[in-house]
Amino acid sequence: MGIRDHLKKAHRVVVKVGTSTITYPNRKPNLMRMEKLVREIVGLSNEGYEMVLVTSGAIAIGMDRMNLDKKPREIPKRQAVAAVGQAVLMHIYERLIAEYGGIAGQVLLTRENSMRHNQYTHSRNALQAMLRMGVLPVVNENDAVTVDEIKIGDNDSLSATVATLIDADALIILSDVDGLYTANPEKDKSARLIPVVEEITPDIEALAGGPESQVGTGGMYTKMQAAKIAMSSGVDMAIVRGDVDGAIRAVLAGEDIGTIFPAKEAHLRARKSWLAFGKRIEGDIVVDDGCERAMMRGASLLAAGITDVGGEFATKSTVRVLNASGREIARGIVAYDSATLNKIKGRHTSEIAKLLGSNAPEEIIHRDNMVIMA
Ligand code: GLU
Repeated sequence: MGIRDHLKKAHRVVVKVGTSTITYPNRKPNLMRMEKLVREIVGLSNEGYEMVLVTSGAIAIGMDRMNLDKKPREIPKRQAVAAVGQAVLMHIYERLIAEYGGIAGQVLLTRENSMRHNQYTHSRNALQAMLRMGVLPVVNENDAVTVDEIKIGDNDSLSATVATLIDADALIILSDVDGLYTANPEKDKSARLIPVVEEITPDIEALAGGPESQVGTGGMYTKMQAAKIAMSSGVDMAIVRGDVDGAIRAVLAGEDIGTIFPAKEAHLRARKSWLAFGKRIEGDIVVDDGCERAMMRGASLLAAGITDVGGEFATKSTVRVLNASGREIARGIVAYDSATLNKIKGRHTSEIAKLLGSNAPEEIIHRDNMVIMA
């Protein structure tokens, strides 16, 4: 079955819409666009789909409401703007959703909700109950009380986290471009749309530009991070233009639009995806080719294959495992702190026992605490 046909089977769907789609450049809400979006989503709920909307716009709309030209520099003031904007944003959505006969429920999440396992479970239960009760969850990050350090930070990643949390079948990201291009379509006439991306390789990440290049090929960096989360969690992801009527329905009908990122077949179960994506990454471990091959066959990570350790971290931190070419191949909870790892990297297990005593764990990351990302 092709990927487009696979999307036809989706039942639980997360739709993410960004600030630029639902506001004008002067930051006022684009009511026409919001109305069409809501009509399409409620229409799909009526048809039997379980829909979740992840929406940005709180900060822009708050700035408009408070007549501010610039985002305040002080964090508490930015939070105040978000508090005002979120209320205005939700007021508009609630009216529109009710107008079309739906029931809106507001969910404001922070990274904490996906980082701590008990909160992860509570958020998951709450969202699933809403869907069972016929409520349309309208989700944003809780910008009024969070600060950057504890934020997910961008709603692309937030939407993928939500899709993982509720075991969604599909995540549809409405963007201001048609999908992922081979080059920036605004600058390069020969740029072509890539219809399907099977894997987020370093080349694909390079197309999306670095974290700083929000314009890149259309603010694609955070979307590639979202795709990694979605694909490894068993969620098909699509990027399509948000200002085209019926785009969500077209994706779910298997039409040939946008860029699709098919879910990996053996997707992570809830605990593992929490492990992979709910937690803050504290550092990197680089491994050699032999170690990479062993890990791909299901082995735990041992010290002998470690060539480098990046960052400073404590025991039980979540770290990324990179292969020799710098590509992330796994994530997991590490049994040693970075200082000790630097001492034992490259050494065989017998040497470690001599250095640290016979009780020292053999596995640097045990395979039960590890998620393969490649
Ligand atoms: N949560 C932010 C807002 O509502 C948006 C974050 C993003 O655009 O990714 O303004």
